[in-house]
Amino acid sequence: MSGTVLTLVLTIFLFILHMATESGSKELPRPPCARLVLFLDSCPADPKRRLPVAYQVRRKLKLHRTTPTALAIAASSLIAFSCGLTKTIGFVSHTIETGGEERSAPVEVPASPSGPRVIIFALDGAVPAGLMDAIKSLEMPNIRELLGKDQGSGLFEHAYAAPHALSVLPSSTIADWASIFTGSVPAWDGIPGDEWFDRETATFFAPVPVSMIDVSDNTKLVTDNLIGNQLKVPTLYERLGVRSYVSMLSVHRGATYFTTVSPEALSDLFQHLVRGTLKGQEPRKSMSGSLDRDSVAKLNEAIEEHGIPDLQVVYFPGIDIFTHAAENPLSSQVRYLEHITDGAVGQVLEAYRRHNALHNTYVIFIADHAHIPTLNDEKHRLGPDDEGSPFQAVAQAGFRVRKASLLLGDPYKDFQAVLAYQGSMAYIYLADRATCPKDGDKCYWKKPPRFEEDVIPVLKTLYLSNQVGHPVAALKGKLDLIFSRQPMASGTNALPFEIFDGRELIPIDDYLGEHPRPDLPRLSERLRWLSAGPYGNRAGDILVLPKACMNVPIESRYYFAWMTHYSWHGSACEQDGHIPFILAQASGSGLKMLSLINKFGGASPSEREVTPLVLSIFGK
Ligand SMILES: [Zn+2]
Repeated sequence: MSGTVLTLVLTIFLFILHMATESGSKELPRPPCARLVLFLDSCPADPKRRLPVAYQVRRKLKLHRTTPTALAIAASSLIAFSCGLTKTIGFVSHTIETGGEERSAPVEVPASPSGPRVIIFALDGAVPAGLMDAIKSLEMPNIRELLGKDQGSGLFEHAYAAPHALSVLPSSTIADWASIFTGSVPAWDGIPGDEWFDRETATFFAPVPVSMIDVSDNTKLVTDNLIGNQLKVPTLYERLGVRSYVSMLSVHRGATYFTTVSPEALSDLFQHLVRGTLKGQEPRKSMSGSLDRDSVAKLNEAIEEHGIPDLQVVYFPGIDIFTHAAENPLSSQVRYLEHITDGAVGQVLEAYRRHNALHNTYVIFIADHAHIPTLNDEKHRLGPDDEGSPFQAVAQAGFRVRKASLLLGDPYKDFQAVLAYQGSMAYIYLADRATCPKDGDKCYWKKPPRFEEDVIPVLKTLYLSNQVGHPVAALKGKLDLIFSRQPMASGTNALPFEIFDGRELIPIDDYLGEHPRPDLPRLSERLRWLSAGPYGNRAGDILVLPKACMNVPIESRYYFAWMTHYSWHGSACEQDGHIPFILAQASGSGLKMLSLINKFGGASPSEREVTPLVLSIFGK
């Protein structure tokens, strides 16, 4: 740890500690959201959930022991406590230890001198309509110059932008980046969402905590390769076997180098903490903007030191972070893309130009999901403790429900039901209650639930509460669709979800034949990808969609989360499933890009086509 960084961290920390101590019971400026480099989708709106700053600092950080380790822990906890969280102890110390760069692949292969090369700009949460309008209106000059003149229908002079590209389900960060960078789908790659429950080991995972506030798994994305350890299929980097650098992205197993931000940039990020500008309406002054710029500075440093790779992945978490927390989220996101993203993209392209490597480099722009505007209030958030939440409905059905927490003490391990939240989607996992009938009994989670005795009571409670307000009055009218399937024994492929119509399960295609839903594009196929396969049971025994699509007024849209936001995603709706998917090459023609994408879905590819597209560019 360099002396300069230590001093900066110490100075900032002591300043905050001083403020906290001085302020006593006085109200401090509202702590900013802790998404930082941690890919969190969340920040609480409920101030009651936060402990006073001074209390947090004294109780959790124990800073009277000012060893370097304690300082690193304290510093990272400062990032975390901005959301009332105190378990993020790894990121800062990890960044300082690694310098923001580590080799991920066991062997360092040299880059090909002649190409081809690929850059993938991974734009978290980018909404295609806003992005394309900004490019066409010349407000994003760097991307516009790369794409060239707009020739209509997605065709540009040097690029093709697929007009109807779609995410896999759920439309949420972790599952979607896993699909994009493996070419697989959740039921086969084992990564079904931002949160999930693994019944084989009775473990809850929350790499992006949505139903809870614990960011421990979030930190592990960077420090412990959490996604790499859970993925059941090879990554794009492993399948390619070429020299690859990945900046910031959770899916980085097998990449030659994984970069985040330089230790020096931590001080920049801390200043946002001090100033409370982690959220904020002005992109240039936002923490999100600093994060995206700082990570590009670090990856350009890596390029200068190690040379241009065959594959460079540039992840921008800031777009999504900024959008969730911005009033008028869709137009605010466009300002962010114009003021931050375009410049950051330009810096990477410029580095390639300097190395005379841009002309034969294919450039892909892709998002994991888009955003649906929502009301940022507790009435529209069906959080674990809220009236009318699915937690309450499952309890009403007679189940002991697992507390919304990453880790549980022994007295709380007798749960018979588990809920995992994805924003505009929720998974419900049920035990065979015959294995744990009494309070204090631990259920045998490797055994699937019984359909009649365990699954049906919850389905009926959800359905009736939504239809007639009984037994859970506050759930009335808030759900869109309820899915389930016959449970399968451990070690066998899970079956695809079907729709519960109040009496029985109906295959999705049959149901849609009677009740067309153009607002839920390719619903049957996308839900099969999530549910049918060896890890399909990670999406729960029951899947619930709240009313969320753009064809219902914003007052009637709901989301499953413990925090409120101005926009959400995770649903099966067109609005957050429709993503940008652009292939460009400075020296290539738009028609050539179109013919390449045509082999992988043409105008309507799924995001999982990125991996086969890149493999084909490298002739694999
Ligand atoms: Zn995302």
